[in-house]
Amino acid sequence: MRTYDLRSDTVTQPTPAMRAAMLAVAVDDDAYGDDAAVGALEARVAGLLGKPAALWLPTGTMANQIAIALHCPRASAIACVPGAHVRIHEDASAAALWGAQLMPIGGRFGFDVDALDALVAEEACGWPPIALVWLENTLGEAGGAVWPLGGACPSGVDPLRAIAERARALGKAIHLDGARLWNAHVATGVPMNEWGRVADTVSVALSKGLGAPAGSMLCGPAALIDRARRLKHALGGAMRQAPALLAAAAAYALDHHVARLADDHRRARSLAAAIADLPHWEVATPQTNLVLARVVAPIRRAEPLCAALRAAGIRCYPNIAREVRFALHLGIGDDDVAPIVETIRSALGTDPTRFVEAAEGAAPATS
Ligand SMILES: *Cc1c(COP(=O)(O)O)cnc(C)c1O
Repeated sequence: MRTYDLRSDTVTQPTPAMRAAMLAVAVDDDAYGDDAAVGALEARVAGLLGKPAALWLPTGTMANQIAIALHCPRASAIACVPGAHVRIHEDASAAALWGAQLMPIGGRFGFDVDALDALVAEEACGWPPIALVWLENTLGEAGGAVWPLGGACPSGVDPLRAIAERARALGKAIHLDGARLWNAHVATGVPMNEWGRVADTVSVALSKGLGAPAGSMLCGPAALIDRARRLKHALGGAMRQAPALLAAAAAYALDHHVARLADDHRRARSLAAAIADLPHWEVATPQTNLVLARVVAPIRRAEPLCAALRAAGIRCYPNIAREVRFALHLGIGDDDVAPIVETIRSALGTDPTRFVEAAEGAAPATS
């Protein structure tokens, strides 16, 4: 049975050509700052984001945590959307490591200047002052929705630029968690450096849509990136000769795997349309590579459907109680979409009632 892993765009395998680039690269010690491949990648990504400097880091989580350390004095707060990666997965780290608190504002698809103003007004009540305004793009928990900018804004309103202007006027720093910023860039055509302009520091993943085995870049002003380099050492992230291999993979990905993200987006739209045709799902049209499919009443939990899909060879991710996430990526081609749709169709069938739990009514669904 062929299996399809749609849990995340992190599951990609390095392609043969990427592996060849990793084998061929000369390696040196990144902890001493000597490695040429890492240095070249840092200069390249800094240039793409329109920032003076960039730092290779092993994970996006470390990039986020270092960004917090750079911008947040102890007992300060960070304004972000409720579903931000930094809040869902890193809130305890932010508190434990740097004494920073995440403050959710807005909703799934972003926040506006009014929400930011309302939160900042609470500083007067003695609450933790907001040190950092946190943006995420694409918005992972919102199914890879783009938080639009410039020409990508539907109504001529430019919410991100407005937020950036207000944050700067208030003296707040801005970080953009751009783990999937490449997807926003390809989906909208807005250049990477325009997104870079709205924030003081920007992190981008090399390991998601781009398909490198690991790595993220933190970009920003030279003085901040110097401090970030020290924090990387402090956190145990100076990985000697390993970053050269991963930088070679990333350089290959920048040459060959950026424009092709449009293929993932197109396949995501086909998959979403096919799932929406099944009787028990509601699916929004994805803007990028993540499909969020929501089961409808009387089914209360998506997990039994995920289990049926897993048994049929499709690995996917229950996002929240009623929602399943399917991530499209480098490992899924055009020819795979039809078999995936067929597998979903036959695994789930047309009778939703068998997924209604026996204990129905005993406990309310949590979402
Ligand atoms: C995946 C992700 C991260 C964390 O990246 P890792 O490399 O897995 O640590 C951070 N932010 C966002 C928005 C992500 O999607």
